[in-house]
Amino acid sequence: MIEIKNLTKKFDQQEVLKDIDLKIEKGKVFVIIGPSGTGKSTLLRCINMLEKPDKGSIRLEDFEADFTNITKKQIQTLRSRTSMVFQNSNLYRNKTALENITTPLILVKKMNRTEAEKIGMELLNRVGMLEKKDSYPETLSGGERQRVGIARAMGMEPDIILFDEPTSALDPELVGEVLEVIKNLAAQHTTMLIVTHEMKFARNVADQIVFMEKGHIVEMAPPEEFFEHPKQERTRQFINRQV
Ligand code: ATP
Ligand code: MG
Repeated sequence: MIEIKNLTKKFDQQEVLKDIDLKIEKGKVFVIIGPSGTGKSTLLRCINMLEKPDKGSIRLEDFEADFTNITKKQIQTLRSRTSMVFQNSNLYRNKTALENITTPLILVKKMNRTEAEKIGMELLNRVGMLEKKDSYPETLSGGERQRVGIARAMGMEPDIILFDEPTSALDPELVGEVLEVIKNLAAQHTTMLIVTHEMKFARNVADQIVFMEKGHIVEMAPPEEFFEHPKQERTRQFINRQV
């Protein structure tokens, strides 16, 4: 479970996120959609503390922090319990697919190499990348790199995986394989918060769709209700423009 209350973020004088409240139960998949510049990425980055919110609080099961006076130790905890998957998976270039997964397991989770490799191979297998375990990132396709990035995030066993447009940098023919991996994670009840422009995928995978605009959550509902019976005029306009 992850619960955010009154999260507010300013850049200079511009309020980019305004009093965001969001509660995601364990095992649920929330998908954020909304226009460009609305604060979707900033919200994920605030949860992961890549940006420091100006106000608000966050709770993860037994862990709670207030952003206004968050400690270094709390920031570390938050980072290790929320994993982020970016547009470009940010793999270590000088490490193989397997090493990309085992390195954080060894450094952060303090596993020994044998243990880390066993888990690394299982994870690569789950994302269909076992055959490429010894390949370096530059020899992998964009979709393959993303799948390794997802496996690496899974390895940390976070409370939630945050995805920021995981397929938007990919050639269209590679999008499907990455979405398939995320769908499998959803089927196994991995808690996820996903920003995407892929409406069909959003509808397919989400327990809740969150529509954001100008730093606010405008509407939130299960996919069918959201797409078939949107309550807000703004949501209706946005949906109509997508098709
Ligand atoms: P997109 O769909 O284009 O990715 P987004 O919803 O993810 O958009 P954000 O990247 O969160 O939008 O940006 C929200 C607002 O915050 C924008 O107006 C952006 O210019 C501003 N912003 C983001 N990061 C910074 C920063 N580091 N410094 C100043 N302003 C920023
Ligand atoms: Mg963004």
